[in-house]
Amino acid sequence: MRNEEMLLIPGPTPVVDSIYDAMASETRGHTDPRFVAQYKASIEKTRELFNTDGEVFVVAGSGTIAMEMALVNTVAAGERLLIISQGYFGDRFIQLGKAFGIEIDVLQAEWGKQVAAEEVERMMKEHTYKAVTITHADTSTGVAADLETLVPIVKQHGALVIVDGVCATAAMEEDMQKEYGDAGHTIDVVLTGSQKAIGVPPGLAIVAFNQTALAARKKIERVPAYYCDIANWIPIMQDPSKYFATPPVNLIYAYDEGMKLVLDEGLTKRYARHTSFGRAVRAALKVYGMQPLADETVAASTLSCILYPEGVDDAAFRSTLAKKGIIVAGALAHLAGKAFRIGHMGNTTEDMLATAVEQIGNTLVELGHEVSVDEAVRRFKEEVSAVV
Ligand SMILES: *Cc1c(COP(=O)(O)O)cnc(C)c1O
Repeated sequence: MRNEEMLLIPGPTPVVDSIYDAMASETRGHTDPRFVAQYKASIEKTRELFNTDGEVFVVAGSGTIAMEMALVNTVAAGERLLIISQGYFGDRFIQLGKAFGIEIDVLQAEWGKQVAAEEVERMMKEHTYKAVTITHADTSTGVAADLETLVPIVKQHGALVIVDGVCATAAMEEDMQKEYGDAGHTIDVVLTGSQKAIGVPPGLAIVAFNQTALAARKKIERVPAYYCDIANWIPIMQDPSKYFATPPVNLIYAYDEGMKLVLDEGLTKRYARHTSFGRAVRAALKVYGMQPLADETVAASTLSCILYPEGVDDAAFRSTLAKKGIIVAGALAHLAGKAFRIGHMGNTTEDMLATAVEQIGNTLVELGHEVSVDEAVRRFKEEVSAVV
C-alpha cells in the first residue's frame, strides 16, 4: 500500500492503491460516454449493495448531505420525526430536523447503550410519526442499532424507517428487501458516505430510497431544497448522460473501483470479516486494561470507542502512537480525553490491525505502563480466526 500512515480513525479509512490509481485517471467530461458508462456502472453496483428495487443516488457531498437528502425528501415541515439516538451522529438529526421546521422527538440513549425498544414502542403509540431515524452504527460511541427489533416496531405504526449507514454500509447488512419481523417489514431509506466502510476518499453522498419512500417524496408538494431534492436527481440516476449538476468525475472512478472491491469480496464475507475485526480488536485491547465503552452485545463491527485505563494521557497516547504511523481518533463530547476511537472497517486488513494492536501496546510501554504486547497480539489473532 502506498499509504505511509495507517488511518484507523472512524473515517476516512485506508485507501488501497487501486482506488488511488482510479482516482488519478484522466478527468473526462461528465457527458463523455466513457465516463457516463462508468457512472452508470457505479450506480448499478450501489443498487446491488442495497439490493433495492427503488432508486439510489450517488452525488457529490459528505455523509451529512446524504442525511439531509434522506430527511427533506420524506418528512415535510410540520410533520413529525422520531430520532433514535445512540450518540453524536444520532443527535445530528435534531439539528437537521430543526433547520427544516420538522417537529422532532428524540430518544437518547446513555452513551455506550442502546435506546430501549420499549421506549420506541411507547413513543410510536403516543404519536403519529412520518419517519424514524436510526443510526446503524454511531461513530461517537461504537454502539450499533438493533434493526431486527426496531424496524418491525416502527413499521407496524406506519412510519418510514431511515437508516444512517454512514459508519456501517458495506460492513453491516443493509439489505433493503430483507424482511424484518413476522409481517415482513423493510427499511425504506439508507444513507451513507464514501469514506467509511466503503473505503473510498471522502466526497460522495450515497442514498437509497425504496418505492414507499419514493412515494412519500411525491406527496411532498415543496421540498425546501434544490440540490438535495431527489426529484432533480432521479432522471440523472436513470440516465447519467443527462445533466443536473456536474458529478465529481474522479471520485466516481474511485467509487466504482471501491464498490468493485466490495462486491468482489462478497457481502456475506465482508460482513463476517467486520464482525471478527471488531471482536478481535476489542478482545486484544482488553489485555491492556482498555475497556470498550459499548458492551460486546451492542458493539458495532466498524469502530470501537475505548476507555483509557487509569493514568493514560489522551494527547500523549495518540501523539506517541501517531509517531509509530498509527492514527486513531479522540473521543467526542464528555468522553474527550477519557477515551479514543479506533476504526476497523473498510479495506483495513487483519495484518494492519495486528500491527495496530502491537503498536498500541508499545506506546503504552513507552508511556510507562506495564502491559503484555505479545499476549494482546496473540489474543487478536485467536479471536480474528475464531469467526472468519
Ligand atoms: C461520519 C458520519 C456522519 C457524517 O458524515 P460526514 O461525511 O462527516 O458529513 C453521519 N453519520 C454517521 C453515523 C457518521 O459516522
